[in-house]
Amino acid sequence: MPICVGIPKEITEGERRVAIVPAVAEKYTKKGYKVILQKDAGAQSFFNDGDYDDISYVDSAREVFEQADVILKVQPPTVEEIDLMREGSIVIGIMQPHRYPERVAKMRDRKISSIAMELVPRISRAQSMDVLSSQASVAGYKAVLMGADLCSQFFPMLTTAAGTIRPARVLIIGAGVSGLQAIATARRLGAIVEAYDVRAVTKEQVQSLGAKFLQLDVNAESSGGYARELTEAEKHKERDMLADHVAHANVVISTAAIPGRKAPRLIDRNMVERMHPGAVIVDLAAESGGNCEVTEPGKTITHHGVIVHGPVNVPSMLSVHASEMYARNLMNLLELMVVDGELKPDWEDEILAGSSLTRDGQILHEPTRTLVEGGQS
Ligand code: NAD
Repeated sequence: MPICVGIPKEITEGERRVAIVPAVAEKYTKKGYKVILQKDAGAQSFFNDGDYDDISYVDSAREVFEQADVILKVQPPTVEEIDLMREGSIVIGIMQPHRYPERVAKMRDRKISSIAMELVPRISRAQSMDVLSSQASVAGYKAVLMGADLCSQFFPMLTTAAGTIRPARVLIIGAGVSGLQAIATARRLGAIVEAYDVRAVTKEQVQSLGAKFLQLDVNAESSGGYARELTEAEKHKERDMLADHVAHANVVISTAAIPGRKAPRLIDRNMVERMHPGAVIVDLAAESGGNCEVTEPGKTITHHGVIVHGPVNVPSMLSVHASEMYARNLMNLLELMVVDGELKPDWEDEILAGSSLTRDGQILHEPTRTLVEGGQS
């Protein structure tokens, strides 16, 4: 029996991505998988049913869940969806367990083997499965376009018969995957770009993209190449250093994050009030608490004449390419579980062990288990 991969339509409001795109579906079918797609599942990403060759279509998510050995999702399945799944099914998606603990508990109770793509360890062998990177680069690119759109100035320098236009000054805070993509995009649009990160190793990466690196004598690199939380004294130092640069920027794109924690607060109300009227802040950390004190997630507000944008689910806005990359990340992970055309996951494998959320009635991811089950053993 071929392995059956099923893709239901995403039902979370605002989610436009899909977990399979036609080019990836073709790869699955060529490898001998059976692919079942709920009708219209790709429509929000402009992939119409006719674009997928040699796959089966079903009318409802219920039929997908009844037949599939492996269910591919973007957003975590809802409690209602989990209820429709067969006991022992494998479901892979971006699970956001801290946000939806009740769904994790349901997957545990229904004995679903769930894999959270965002928990895939960031080791070199897993680079092709790294959804944090693929989706963050989409977000970094789009953030700059949103900033340029909200800004009432040109980004490039222009020499025209009507005079010379000065280039926009763009400040990127946080130079991880999304920040570096934001720098590259702002530079391509011709802006003067400054960037800052607490990890000293980013200095060269920032400079190689043609941006100026703002130096602070703090290096907060921690395990796995991530940033650690700063001490109170370091936080003051950082805000003092950033204040003038924020005040002079036409557009600030903030992307700073610390894994598993609330986003660091880097731009306070006073700093916003020192900016020029018409200046723009795009706070990519809006969903995880915001880098800016006045950000309202999902809204664009004006504070003291400064436009503060707090977009949510930015990768979904670029659904075609975000889906393409995500679908490839998923296939690469699934391939790890297949031996000679059969589903034989080695759950001890570092990648699967790190990303498994629930299996056999247990929550395997320690922080999630503590969140859901508290002190229970
Ligand atoms: P992230 O989304 O967790 O954070 C974004 C950025 O915010 C990071 O660069 C971080 O240093 C920065 N930041 C945190 N606190 C800050 C503060 N107070 N002020 C300014 N900046 C702050 O990180 P990410 O983009 O997902 O990844 C960060 C790093 O992880 C990468 O650059 C890389 O070194 C590593 N990584 C490794 C792999 C791999 O090996 N496969 C893949 C991707 C990323």
